[in-house]
Amino acid sequence: MSFDSLQLNPAILKAVLDAGYDTPTPIQTQAIPEILAGHDLIASAQTGTGKTAAFMLPALQRLSETPRAGTPRLLVLAPTRELASQVQDASVKYGRHLRLRSATILGGMPYGKQLRQLSGPLDLVVGTPGRLLDHLERGRLDLSKVEMLILDEADRMLDMGFKEDVERIAGACPTQRQTLLFTATWNPAMQQLAGKLLREPKRIEIAGQRARHENITQRLHLADDEGHRDRLLEKLVEHTDVNKAIIFTATKRGCDELAERLNAAGHPAAPLHGDMSQGLRTRTLSRLRSGRLKLLVATDVAARGLDVDGVSHVINYDIPRFAEDYVHRIGRTGRAGAAGTAVSLVLHRDLRHLDRIERFTGQALEAETIVGLEPTRTRRSSRPAGGRGRPAGRPAGRGGYRSRDGEKGYARGDGESRGYRGRAGEGRRFNGGEGSAPYGERRRPERSRGNGPRRSERSASSV
Ligand code: AMP
Repeated sequence: MSFDSLQLNPAILKAVLDAGYDTPTPIQTQAIPEILAGHDLIASAQTGTGKTAAFMLPALQRLSETPRAGTPRLLVLAPTRELASQVQDASVKYGRHLRLRSATILGGMPYGKQLRQLSGPLDLVVGTPGRLLDHLERGRLDLSKVEMLILDEADRMLDMGFKEDVERIAGACPTQRQTLLFTATWNPAMQQLAGKLLREPKRIEIAGQRARHENITQRLHLADDEGHRDRLLEKLVEHTDVNKAIIFTATKRGCDELAERLNAAGHPAAPLHGDMSQGLRTRTLSRLRSGRLKLLVATDVAARGLDVDGVSHVINYDIPRFAEDYVHRIGRTGRAGAAGTAVSLVLHRDLRHLDRIERFTGQALEAETIVGLEPTRTRRSSRPAGGRGRPAGRPAGRGGYRSRDGEKGYARGDGESRGYRGRAGEGRRFNGGEGSAPYGERRRPERSRGNGPRRSERSASSV
């Protein structure tokens, strides 16, 4: 299928060709006709699948076909400032041959410019829920002419505690609007939100995990302790293959400290987390994008949805506690079909998180070693008796589980670990596995993000 056959208007088609796209991605092929036909839509797709264009192209088409109202006709809600900025950039990119007036309303940004934007005529608004609601409640934002409401990464908005804000914002839009909901995962809370906000939605599922990550090689290194982990990291970043890397830490403090340690060790690195000013975050990202910065140390929330070209490596310095975060993290590399590598450095105490990730992706990772930095313990040796050969929590007697290539999970022990050096290009590839759930597994109840602060600026700095 080509973009020509999607019935987009010539001005939008031209912008798509200007962007260098020649073929629509699967989500675009499926979503664009449904949206143009006026249906509400639930689309399950992750970043990197081309989902932004999938909603932005038909949304812009609608704006080009309906009369201006003065107040916004299109409203896009996104969970974080970075994602909202990217959506806004996409609206400019794809709408460059249309004369549209837009505003970006982000938490943590000065009010002055936003107030000026909101006081003029507008066609579309992109923003984070907290600040948008703030303007709405103060009577500075009129949503009574909204024709289309788009919720991008709706699952993350719920995780961040925005449910109420999103519902109130939607409540200020006409009931006759068209509503599109994009989410990477699906659970009862999402179902409830969709039930409230959408009418007879069409559903599209894109096997994002598999489609998106086929070109990502995943590696695993076991670390005896923090010092060992630092030495492994240093060795990895010295590797000539590492052109641009995002290194993930679990906390903001850990993020700052690791960036400092890397700098002190002669590896220029910069942190990215929610406690930094928006200006500094933007400057750091632009250094990363331009290639002036090679190592970015980031927390999950700060790096959420980041679209940076040419990230050769994602390094999990702290393995995420939840599998969805792992999938999101490694999706920062291997974009637009390029090859990418994801390396996880896992302390023995964190092996249970690794087990959970492997269950989610349906693929077991085999530990590798770096010559001179071999761990003293193998993965198997740290497993409790009786847990041998199967992930924690997996019922015994079911014969373990199989990855897509038919290999049994954990069948090959760490005693047979391979050397890292001299084996570049090898390693196991992530493929999502046939057993992986397209909508992901439900979050564990102990996850606390949903109870956190409500406003985007506060939520964005909570991790
Ligand atoms: P997204 O999933 O929206 O974050 O998009 C991921 C990346 O794919 C962005 O850099 C887009 O510019 C790019 N992209 C979107 N649609 C296409 C397409 N049809 N062909 C090539 N690249 C695309």
